[in-house]
Amino acid sequence: MVDVIRSAEPISRVEVAELTGLTQPSISNIVRDLIAAGVIHETGAVDSARGKPRKLLAINPANLFGVGFQLGPESVTCVAIDLTGGVVGREVVPLDGSDLAGQLAARFDDFTDGLDLPRERVEGLAVVAPTASPGDPDTFGALRDELADRLKIPVLVENDAAAAALGEFWSRRVSREQSFGAVYLSTGIGAGLVFGGALFRGAGFDAGELGHLSIQYDGRPCPCGNQGCVERYASMSATVEEARSYPELASRLRLDGTVSSAYDTVARAAVNGDAEAYAVVDKAAGYLSVAVTSMVNLLDLGRIVLTGPGVAVAGSIYARRLRAHLARTAHARHRHEILVELSAQPRNAAAIGGAALIVQASIAPGHTPGLRVSRDSAA
Ligand SMILES: [Zn+2]
Repeated sequence: MVDVIRSAEPISRVEVAELTGLTQPSISNIVRDLIAAGVIHETGAVDSARGKPRKLLAINPANLFGVGFQLGPESVTCVAIDLTGGVVGREVVPLDGSDLAGQLAARFDDFTDGLDLPRERVEGLAVVAPTASPGDPDTFGALRDELADRLKIPVLVENDAAAAALGEFWSRRVSREQSFGAVYLSTGIGAGLVFGGALFRGAGFDAGELGHLSIQYDGRPCPCGNQGCVERYASMSATVEEARSYPELASRLRLDGTVSSAYDTVARAAVNGDAEAYAVVDKAAGYLSVAVTSMVNLLDLGRIVLTGPGVAVAGSIYARRLRAHLARTAHARHRHEILVELSAQPRNAAAIGGAALIVQASIAPGHTPGLRVSRDSAA
């Protein structure tokens, strides 16, 4: 119910009843408990359409916090959010290869101390990474258990695209009725899907593998075993590979160094009017648009957000290409609008989403599998 209030606040008790299907007496009881716990408060009365003044309910943002850590190749992005999804702190810290759990536990202590967040109000830590899945007990399960034991708080692990989708869903206050998808462009490509306010997981937490949607039967071979996977044409890595295949462009832009830095160089050149760089990025955007349109058609999505480090610089090129492709070919284009939006914080979206998962787990239990609770007081 807090999730309903959060997505529509300020909201009246009557509207909460309509949205949740709960009876008025149950709503009154739950609201009284939530007010007593400091999670929500009543705001001023308004004249409703029905002519009777009603008290509205709203969230107390500073009551609870979630922390998200987004693991990169050499660094961790740390984010804390409050109950409304507002970011209260962010930092990027380098990581070395040794004792990951120990480093992350120390980062958590430094980060929350630096923000002056009372430990009893931090509801947990989410660790998000491209290869992490709540359904995989081995790789990240051990890290999760060790962190939960050390920090004595709930810890979860999540895939970056899935986490980013939930974060974008929260921060945009997307209506729960909307079929919502986030496309996460990074060194790979992923998608997260939110239906009815909750992440769609699939049979084993692997839903949203957009990067391995094939756009050509006999196309480029992919390590997954398939051919023509869109990731092989449109990921940051594929785009850098494509740009490096033009010797003049590669030497003019000096495309050596890591994939991330080379990609940002190509993307910056593309948005600054370099015709050759623009052609490379726009072609990748075209490939991506074909795959995303298939996803939109398959699921009848009403709203898409482009997010992840790959859209931080040249997001407008991807958004323009996708909008044009959907307007020309999407099956539902004559029935309803299909919104394409760009993330406001594409480089931090997965960390923000991880933190949002923590907050959602604390206010709407049951939506968040894989949360390992190690706090002594937790039932
Ligand atoms: Zn593949």
